[in-house]
Amino acid sequence: MPTPKAIPSLKQRIIEEISQNGPMPLSRYMNLCLGDPHEGYYMTRDPFGMAGDFTTAPEVSQMFGELIGIWAIEAWKAIGAPTKTRLVEFGPGRGTLMADCLRSLSLEPKLISGLEVQMIEMSPTLVAAQQKRLVDAPCPVSWHGTLPDCSLPTLMIANEFFDALPVHILTKTETGYAQRHITAQDDDTLVFADIPASLPTGFPEPDHIQTGTVFELSPERYQYAQTMAATLKANTGAALIIDYGFEQPKTGATFQALQAHQPVDPLENPGSADLTSLVDFTSVRHAFTDHQITLSPTTTQMDFLLNLGLLERAGVLGSTANEAGQIELQAAVNRLVSPDEMGTLFKVISASTSQ
Ligand code: SAH
Repeated sequence: MPTPKAIPSLKQRIIEEISQNGPMPLSRYMNLCLGDPHEGYYMTRDPFGMAGDFTTAPEVSQMFGELIGIWAIEAWKAIGAPTKTRLVEFGPGRGTLMADCLRSLSLEPKLISGLEVQMIEMSPTLVAAQQKRLVDAPCPVSWHGTLPDCSLPTLMIANEFFDALPVHILTKTETGYAQRHITAQDDDTLVFADIPASLPTGFPEPDHIQTGTVFELSPERYQYAQTMAATLKANTGAALIIDYGFEQPKTGATFQALQAHQPVDPLENPGSADLTSLVDFTSVRHAFTDHQITLSPTTTQMDFLLNLGLLERAGVLGSTANEAGQIELQAAVNRLVSPDEMGTLFKVISASTSQ
């Protein structure tokens, strides 16, 4: 029997694809580095926490997911407290946010008894972590690669999901646009190359961009936002998006690779680092307004969590904690809302069919 051929490394396969098809658009490179079934960054590891590459808000404190649960209860009431509701989380990481959120939702027996949770996750490693975390969930939970069709009123949550979707880097030139690609040198080193290209289909000329300016566009993020908006339009419900990002007019490239909490060369070791960029909230908003879905003004994570009662919740948890526990709670509050930490870089938008 012939021995099965070993799968070439992701880097080798990227070089092969470049030699066949020419320079590779950055968005394709991101897709491969994050989602390749064999070596994709999210597919093969649990990257969260101090020992990993980055720490997300749900991993900082249980209060984050609990307060999102409070948001979900309010959103559910605002759409008329339906007897059956679907709760969707996009890119749920370790499942921590959902576990903490469901604890809050259990305070509303009518909501929890008619609730169906759907987790949208591409990584088998993280699906396994989420299943373990939610083994005692108080309602049915199912896992999917993309959002399933369903006619229930739907509440949707996406924390640090949009930043993980691919981005295009473009430069406005005298004659049109150049798009950032990856190409390979003779010694197999990967390098960037800006190559003339048109704007992705369906994207209008951005009016705030001058010739010579670099900017980012993400059709993939726009598409996900449109899916969320279309779901709200068809099913009724609410959506909550939290991520690091900006509102236009901002230009320049924010794309970066992170490993062990430090920026690294994104081309050095494909698949070994988190590739990410700031989310353009103006573009995400357009996707919702195109579907005539009303959005709240963009707010900061600081204002969002403080308004939902972060300090009060910390006070309740602190009242039964020992000194070390209290110090930990203070540090968590600081991490989540201080402008020097996650407080203002992280933005929040929500949409509801109730408005
Ligand atoms: N929300 C979590 C994890 C954020 S990291 C938290 O806050 O801790 C990004 C998550 O999105 C990971 O779970 C990753 O596997 C998932 N993901 C990235 N791209 C995806 C895609 N295209 N489809 C589904 N899940 C995706």
